[in-house]
Amino acid sequence: MKNANKLQIVYPDEEHGVRHPHCPHGPTLLFQTFNQLADKPTSAYYACAAHRDKSLCNFQFPAEQITPQKLTKRYDLESHINSYKKQRRKLLAGYNDGGLHYCLHCNVPLLRDNHTEHAAHEMIWNLTHELLCDPTRFLRPLDDDKSQAQYFFDNKALKFFGNCFQDLGVTKVVCMGAPRLHAFFRNNFSDMQSFLLDFDHRMFFFYDDNNFAWYNMCNNHFFDKLQRLKFEKFLKCKPKDKLLIFTDPPFGCRTEPIAGTLRQLTHTFNLLNNLPHQPLAIFWIFPYFSEHYIQKEMPHMRMCEYKVNYTNHGAYTNVGEKCRKLGSPVRVFTNVRLELLHLPVEEEYKYCALCQRYTALENRHCAKCGNCPSKNGSTYRHCELCGCCVKPNYVHCINCRRCTQAEEHECEMYQANQHCWICLQKGHTELMCAMWRKHHKDVGFVNRGDQIIMCLLCKRKGHNERNCRRRNKYLEELTFMGVTEVKIK
Ligand code: SAH
Ligand code: ZN
Ligand code: ZN
Ligand code: ZN
Ligand code: ZN
Repeated sequence: MKNANKLQIVYPDEEHGVRHPHCPHGPTLLFQTFNQLADKPTSAYYACAAHRDKSLCNFQFPAEQITPQKLTKRYDLESHINSYKKQRRKLLAGYNDGGLHYCLHCNVPLLRDNHTEHAAHEMIWNLTHELLCDPTRFLRPLDDDKSQAQYFFDNKALKFFGNCFQDLGVTKVVCMGAPRLHAFFRNNFSDMQSFLLDFDHRMFFFYDDNNFAWYNMCNNHFFDKLQRLKFEKFLKCKPKDKLLIFTDPPFGCRTEPIAGTLRQLTHTFNLLNNLPHQPLAIFWIFPYFSEHYIQKEMPHMRMCEYKVNYTNHGAYTNVGEKCRKLGSPVRVFTNVRLELLHLPVEEEYKYCALCQRYTALENRHCAKCGNCPSKNGSTYRHCELCGCCVKPNYVHCINCRRCTQAEEHECEMYQANQHCWICLQKGHTELMCAMWRKHHKDVGFVNRGDQIIMCLLCKRKGHNERNCRRRNKYLEELTFMGVTEVKIK
């Protein structure tokens, strides 16, 4: 069975002529369902970049009905912005007078005399300097998983990032969707500047335009022009500066728009500093199982094994009863060389001399694979029939030529979701690869009694086609924008 419909997400890029209509949250994304067999889009519509939940933003517009008026319409949020900034002024004034409170229900700062209408609401009385310096310690996290999904780092993670950036000589950090990290840098690192880009308007109350902008990271949209200018000023660097972009997006976010934004920010950085095409250092926090999606967008990104824990997430933490046996699945993806990152030994990481980098304590170096193979926090074992290391609880299926979960394994369905190790396409495994079969009629022959895999390309035993060192003798591969096209030589 071939899945012919593919969803494609087109990122708005006005500078390069890709114009999309706006919703109140900035330029929309174009969602195209693409029929691979017919080689054309079957449906295409514009929808809000930030909200996947229609009750939060119901903008949706069919692409074929687009008009010039629709394309130029803009939404003005100035009155909101002004009122948020007014709240900040009030907060500062109230703080200087003593007696500043905060209503957690209405999300507004309150002065001594105007809290009667909040009598039944949960309040924080007498905000201390300490709380004001890190509002994530008392604000209710926005826990709507469909868009904002606010999960805050635990102190160990904060310390790890702080140490990493010091080791790397970072002087400026852009915290995109990372308010607690922003506060951490402001409060603890005087030689590191931080700028917060976040969708949470409450940050207006605690930071001014010099280090915060109300922002949508799914389309690189600044809601306030002045804040955008201040941010551009921040991006301008002196020769000694080293700037890094740190982002911890909600895990429900697609990788395409985040990657699009990271590319645009890199582009702006180069423009402002008169640089040719210097890549920006990036830390992108995301679950390990999204590695494939990140690398499809940004092939240079590598996964660092540090397990990121949050204080207010039941499963993505290492404490509490709901926590997972293998620890948090959240990792750091980065274009910084992994050899440069020192994972803390006191948090159960170790140095692998063969890989020349830090790895998790449970990860065991495999001489056959030549790496420390674990991704998910368990100890992998080498499967001779797969020719690679696999999760410890997996069992090998001869039909599928893969190790997989034993429960509810159904060969046909499983293979439909696999990527072929020869042509790299999804939907079949090597024995079914039409491209290879066309040229190699003998492919159907495999000895079911074999105890070790034979590579169909070079016919040698012990490794699979994906890891075949003579791969380029048989196949021609062309990678463009993260998509690899494979042809037989
Ligand atoms: N772990 C981080 C917080 C990550 S939670 C820390 O401790 O600092 C995700 C953050 O992304 C939240 O602060 C949320 O407000 C922000 N966010 C969610 N959607 C966004 C969007 N479209 N644009 C910008 N920020 C967004
Ligand atoms: Zn190793
Ligand atoms: Zn191995
Ligand atoms: Zn196997
Ligand atoms: Zn194939």
